[in-house]
Amino acid sequence: MYKFSKSFQKRRFQKSKFYRGRKHYLNPTQYINKTASFPTGNDIAIKNSFNDFRIDPILLKNIFSRGYRVPTPIQDQAIQPILEGKDVIGIAETGSGKTAAFLIPIINKILHNRQEKVLIIVPTRELAVQINDDLKSLSKFLSVYSSLCIGGASINRQIFELRNNPHIVIGTPGRIKDLFNRNFLHLKNFRNIVLDEADRMVDIGFLPEIKFLISRLSQDRQSLFFSATVSREVDGIINSFVTNPVTISVKSTETPVSIKQDVIRVRGTEEKIAKLKELLRRQEFKKVLIFGRTKHGVDRLSKRLFLQGFSVNSIHGNKSQNQRLRVLMQFKNNQLQILVATDIAARGLDIPDVSHVINFDEPASQTDYIHRIGRTGRAQKKGFALTFVS
Ligand code: AMP
Repeated sequence: MYKFSKSFQKRRFQKSKFYRGRKHYLNPTQYINKTASFPTGNDIAIKNSFNDFRIDPILLKNIFSRGYRVPTPIQDQAIQPILEGKDVIGIAETGSGKTAAFLIPIINKILHNRQEKVLIIVPTRELAVQINDDLKSLSKFLSVYSSLCIGGASINRQIFELRNNPHIVIGTPGRIKDLFNRNFLHLKNFRNIVLDEADRMVDIGFLPEIKFLISRLSQDRQSLFFSATVSREVDGIINSFVTNPVTISVKSTETPVSIKQDVIRVRGTEEKIAKLKELLRRQEFKKVLIFGRTKHGVDRLSKRLFLQGFSVNSIHGNKSQNQRLRVLMQFKNNQLQILVATDIAARGLDIPDVSHVINFDEPASQTDYIHRIGRTGRAQKKGFALTFVS
């Protein structure tokens, strides 16, 4: 397919205008897998059923009410050591079921000791909201209380909630640090800490906040750490965060096998938009998440598609928290066919049944690519990821 050597392509690309803002050169072949058929199950054997874990019967019922029949690989391997009080490092992609892998044993721990306090630190507001939603449904009828401490929402309300001593605080690093500095969040009281999507926190630039928060935590704690990838910085966090951890890696391949990936070659923006419209009109493109690089680009593309009659909206960092949540809810509930998003806005989101991820702009790094396409093919469903390359 390619006439030029990889090194020639790389040099040519680095000279081009498209190189701006890129952290790494990604060879387009990385966006292609030629899977002819999808594996129906996961290649990792599951050893436990949910009944094998000695957890509260109502919690167990809530798990089944969510439609979870068997544990996912990360749940299969992480729930028991967390129940035993061990520190855990989970290397798992988004969509692997890692949220329930830590929420189930945490809820159970609180049911045994209502004085336990848990701090869950995540990179984005949306992920925090999503974890809180999962928590509410898994802890139904169990009187486990939580507070969301995220930027873009009223800090006064969060202060009010913290005064009521919730069992679980879920927040983003900046707001947590702010509340700590104002003396409303007493980190030393939290003896259970979860760092979720640590790699993303590093990408966003939260490393200083993470280091700060870790240094203020109680030494006597259970620490749970989740990341899809382990870079040098992430490794540094792990070393200062966990003690004698159990490490669980459920990443059997770089990208989930349930996602079929391919590229679409185009010459210039107009051809790209024409091709995109053609794809979006096809019946199988039912629920499509499109990634763009910049906030303005995402806005522009969304407006253009809207004017062409598509059911579309966008999320990016310039939109208010309420706007972002409203649009997300519409997309989740299938009121929108298309969501155009920047990386940060869409990180870690759990949106059911996304049929296609389209990289309108190429991702800035391999990690971003993996996270983007991880929005489709979730919960062992099939997914498609298409990347436009010029
Ligand atoms: P997560 O990686 O935590 O964002 O989870 C990805 C998706 O998998 C979410 O929609 C979960 O509700 C779903 N999920 C989590 N655990 C299970 C399970 N054991 N069985 C089926 N679906 C699950």
